[in-house]
Amino acid sequence: MKDEILQTGYKEYGFSEKTIELTKEVEKEIEPIIEEINQIAQYNSIKVLKAFQENNISDMHFNSTTGYGYGDIGRDTTEKVFAQVLKAEDCLVRGQFISGTHALTVTLFGLLRPGDILLSITGKPYDTLDEVIGIVNNPSSLKSFGIEFEQIDLKDNDFDYETIQETLKNKKIKVIEIQRSKGYSTRKSIGIEQIEQVIEKIRQIDKDVIIMIDNCYCEFVGTKEPLEVGADIIVGSLIKNLGGGIAPNGAYVAGKSKLINLVAERLTAPGEGKEVGPSLGITKSFLQGLFMAPNVVSSSLKTAVFASRCLEKLGFDVEPKYNEKRADIVQTINFNNKEKLIQYCQGIQMGSPVDSNSIPEPWDMPGYTDQVIMAAGAFTQGSSIELSCDGPIRPPYTAFMQGGLTYEYGKLGVMKAIENIIEKK
Ligand SMILES: *Cc1c(COP(=O)(O)O)cnc(C)c1O
Repeated sequence: MKDEILQTGYKEYGFSEKTIELTKEVEKEIEPIIEEINQIAQYNSIKVLKAFQENNISDMHFNSTTGYGYGDIGRDTTEKVFAQVLKAEDCLVRGQFISGTHALTVTLFGLLRPGDILLSITGKPYDTLDEVIGIVNNPSSLKSFGIEFEQIDLKDNDFDYETIQETLKNKKIKVIEIQRSKGYSTRKSIGIEQIEQVIEKIRQIDKDVIIMIDNCYCEFVGTKEPLEVGADIIVGSLIKNLGGGIAPNGAYVAGKSKLINLVAERLTAPGEGKEVGPSLGITKSFLQGLFMAPNVVSSSLKTAVFASRCLEKLGFDVEPKYNEKRADIVQTINFNNKEKLIQYCQGIQMGSPVDSNSIPEPWDMPGYTDQVIMAAGAFTQGSSIELSCDGPIRPPYTAFMQGGLTYEYGKLGVMKAIENIIEKK
């Protein structure tokens, strides 16, 4: 296709010369990065296809069960497919997990007992875990059951290896939690090489401590997953990376069989575990979502890289930079300006396929000290593998942007948001 045809398309959609010009320049600059992302997607597609074929996925696996869900062959085989892709001994892939937070909660309650200590080595965990752990008081928290929590902060964006080793020498820790993605903090996300290194250091001191990874936003960003470098159990949401934009809800927990069994007995009931849990027609979406996931994650990454370079060129402080190695699909942009943050989020909403005419405003979200603005024009409520962007209204006025089911739509959303900040000087 002639380049002019596309330019006309952009103009007819309403983009200014300036935005179109910036897009052209940036797309040229990011070409080598896009090529690398394509190769990772190709590699991960091989893993997925192989797992489908070796588990003989067929029409009969798209079955549905109701009630107790005994003998659900589709559910059980789907878990085998996920386990193979994630290099896990066993896996739970369930719609009965309401969210990533719920899967993390069930995992923690499954693994920990009164008197045990949970240690986070990536600083304070994700905000929604505050009441689960008992950092914020709640009568149903781990703390209320006599489970202690300690944290070791990161040091210069890496693990504090010395303090971790000291702590393990002095105390018996039951579970170590590592959160890879940055959440709402300004730190960098944790790469797989760092995970490998810290696990080696942990194992020098303690062979038994359970290493649990909050893997949200990180699946398929690279070619290796944490179980391959020695983690014991990993958790992630299916309305993020591995759901491929198709799964309507749910989460997965994968890892050592013995641990998955403990989690399963907490999810359902002791004695019932994995054997129950009706799939209620969701299995095909899980399988198709996993099938799409390598490509969808690559589209999200490309969208993030495109946004990173565009906003850097417009003078904003971005993390990661377009050519930096990524550990997750999240792109942050420091606007250092409240209005610009709001305009950017509103622009992302305008560029969405659903609710493009609503205008998000900052609001007082439960559990947050500052107001938060959220742009989400998604097919699935709360899905953040779809293009979405949010930011707490406090300096440095940072937008946390992620997702994009296709690069083409992701790019259009970012262009719309850019147009919204440069138009309204
Ligand atoms: C999204 C996320 C969670 C929680 O997942 P929900 O599905 O939103 O409950 C936990 N940890 C991290 C790092 C996340 O990004």
